[in-house]
Amino acid sequence: MKRPSLPVNAPLVDRSPPEVRTQRRRLRACHECDWVSALPPLSSGEKASCPRCSHVLVTRHRYPAQRSMALAIASLVAMLLAVSFPFISFTVSGVSNRIELTQTASTLIGFHQPLVAIAVIMTIVVLPAVYLIGVVWLQFGLLRNHPLPYSRDIARSLSHLTPWMMADVFIIGALVSLIKIAGLAEVDVGISFWAFCAFALLLLMTNQSLDADWMWFSLEGETLAPEGTQTGRPAAGQGLTGCPTCGLVNRLSPQGTGRCIRCHEKLHQRLPHSLQRTWALLGASTIMYIPANVYPIMTTTSFGSSSPSTIIGGVIQLIQMDSWPIAGVIFIASVIVPVGKLVALTWLCLVVRRSNELNAQSRTRLYRLTEFIGRWSMVDVFVVAILVALIRAGSLMSITPGPAALAFGAVVVLTMLAAMSFDPRLIWDTPPPPRPPFLRRKTATKEPVDG
Ligand SMILES: [Zn+2]
Ligand SMILES: [Zn+2]
Repeated sequence: MKRPSLPVNAPLVDRSPPEVRTQRRRLRACHECDWVSALPPLSSGEKASCPRCSHVLVTRHRYPAQRSMALAIASLVAMLLAVSFPFISFTVSGVSNRIELTQTASTLIGFHQPLVAIAVIMTIVVLPAVYLIGVVWLQFGLLRNHPLPYSRDIARSLSHLTPWMMADVFIIGALVSLIKIAGLAEVDVGISFWAFCAFALLLLMTNQSLDADWMWFSLEGETLAPEGTQTGRPAAGQGLTGCPTCGLVNRLSPQGTGRCIRCHEKLHQRLPHSLQRTWALLGASTIMYIPANVYPIMTTTSFGSSSPSTIIGGVIQLIQMDSWPIAGVIFIASVIVPVGKLVALTWLCLVVRRSNELNAQSRTRLYRLTEFIGRWSMVDVFVVAILVALIRAGSLMSITPGPAALAFGAVVVLTMLAAMSFDPRLIWDTPPPPRPPFLRRKTATKEPVDG
């Protein structure tokens, strides 16, 4: 591979990876275990992971700007198609209804569920659109070697938007809804449905294609890590921290706070009041989980008679209809995932002070899992949004949302916030592992005897 040679007064921004542009060691402090390590030179397609907890620190892509810009533009086109054409239509006894994607949110407003409507439209259209436009804006500037205005603020916001984009979860919700009503009425999917599937896939690929390390290096360059930074030690003990957004190692004030000198993100040695906040959010989501299960999530009217159904009631109904796979999906998304997440986070909060190097690895893995699966619980909320918009044939057949939809949506958001406010570095803030017995015997005489 030919290395691009830059003229003496070359602009700060160019398209080659940081490894080519700087020969010095770049340091990182792991965001999950606080370990300071030096980044190795990476070729495209390679990743650098933390040697202590194996968290991925940097992923290097070939043509990072071109790639993510192309994917973001393709996603935006697919999204435009998805909102412009009919999404799904259904026909029962000669009465038919056809909906567009945005009606899954707007219909809910008519049923006095504005918060659920906002959650639906934000997670499937608004936030992904903002994210994609942000990516195009950023990469376009980087390709021209002149970052456009506000590039730094946009780059900082992208990582905060990612967990709240749920187009992929909505696809599962749409498939569940289709199978749920396939036996009761005739269902047809429109162009928009396929466009939305393409959009969800492209959005995922855009997100994967972003090389944050390359992007920040190109936008703002990289200053050396503070003098005296030692690798192979936690950053906190050295008064340092790794920026969660751009990765740069920064020195903190004696109070343990600061702002990243490269991306201006707020920095903390440990997230402030991490455990208290996580406990409070876990408590709130446990409380909300009660109405989410006691009240009906939707009411189905069929040939004049109405039957409200709770989350569990819906699962039982599906089993009675022999729809085992769908019953399984709803049961996992609405019961196993939220309850599992509550239990796992509660357990992590309880044992975090009693972790050691030996079990910290598995506890960090459990934390990553809870962070990853949280958003998939939204499936049931999306099923309600789709069915309520679609099944509207008056007393012949119609579906209305129940109060549990809002309560369950709140559970999903609160558990996601709980996972975000938990600082996994606390798991590693522990005394070193117990010394082997022969070493302990050696020093035993110097230590006071217990009791
Ligand atoms: Zn780590
Ligand atoms: Zn930063």
